[in-house]
Amino acid sequence: MIVPKTHFLQTKAARTLSLAEVFRMTETEAETAFRKIRWSDTDGEPVCPSCGCIGAYPSRRVTGSPRFRCKAKECRKDFTITSGTLFASHKAPLRTYLAAIAVAMNEVKGKNALALSRDLGMSHKACWVLLHKVREAMAEEFKGRKIGGEGKVAETDGAYFGGYVRPANFKENRRDRRLAANQNGKRQSLVVVRERNGNSVAAVFKSESAALGWIKSRIEKGTVVNADEASGWDGLASKYEMKRINHQEAYSDGEACTNWAESYFSRIRRGEMGHFHHVSGPYLLRYAHESSFREDNRRMDNGAQVRRVTQLALGRGPSVDFGGYYQRHLRVA
Ligand SMILES: [Zn+2]
Repeated sequence: MIVPKTHFLQTKAARTLSLAEVFRMTETEAETAFRKIRWSDTDGEPVCPSCGCIGAYPSRRVTGSPRFRCKAKECRKDFTITSGTLFASHKAPLRTYLAAIAVAMNEVKGKNALALSRDLGMSHKACWVLLHKVREAMAEEFKGRKIGGEGKVAETDGAYFGGYVRPANFKENRRDRRLAANQNGKRQSLVVVRERNGNSVAAVFKSESAALGWIKSRIEKGTVVNADEASGWDGLASKYEMKRINHQEAYSDGEACTNWAESYFSRIRRGEMGHFHHVSGPYLLRYAHESSFREDNRRMDNGAQVRRVTQLALGRGPSVDFGGYYQRHLRVA
């Protein structure tokens, strides 16, 4: 009998938090879960975000939503579990937030806002913003991240996103869409650096060659860097030992390969085709971070993933992209 190989995601170890469990929680239990994540040092005891004083009086709103009042005499400020964080001034109950994060993490190639709005009975816009905030939370993971080091191997590669130009209907009107003159200028290059068996970090540029300085700042000296034969990467040879692979001949020649970088792009492309449709424009970097987060943590169980994202969201300041449910500055074309 042939026993199929079990993938990590098919094992029991990968499943530690189900949506059913989240929905069995009371709102108070969800609040406790959020408190323990936000104020982990005090085991959920509120810490005033203004003065840092530990301990607060419960001061629930008339609506029942939790609020605290700082005990320090000279402060006495009111705050909530999400005050000053990415989820500040949230409208939906915290249990719904927890459910939304769980749903987003369970969808291994990313969750689309329309589907989430149907799952949770929330508006499409609220879900769209929430999912972008989840991506903003994930982005915290990549701030200043360096990869590789002495004796380590990394890969780098780039791919183009956006700027799709529809071919003209009649043959005589068609243009060569590969030429810069016939493009719309919206095409962006997404570049990833990834350590083999390790973490990744991605960024967006006008072209691959514009990424060299960034790559050098993110890959530690002493790393062996694998890249394809594209001339854009030649400039890396001054800092690193390079292994180059010609993809027209092989994907791996036993020496060099960029398969770890390729699998990163494969995930974001599948997300683009299956869920997000337009992984481009100003939000390309956000989708890129989401892809990195998912690739790097693909062997983390789902409960731990939800806790990590929540921890990142509560451990940082308010959204750069959105204030409440509204866009702070309109950046989407
Ligand atoms: Zn205070």
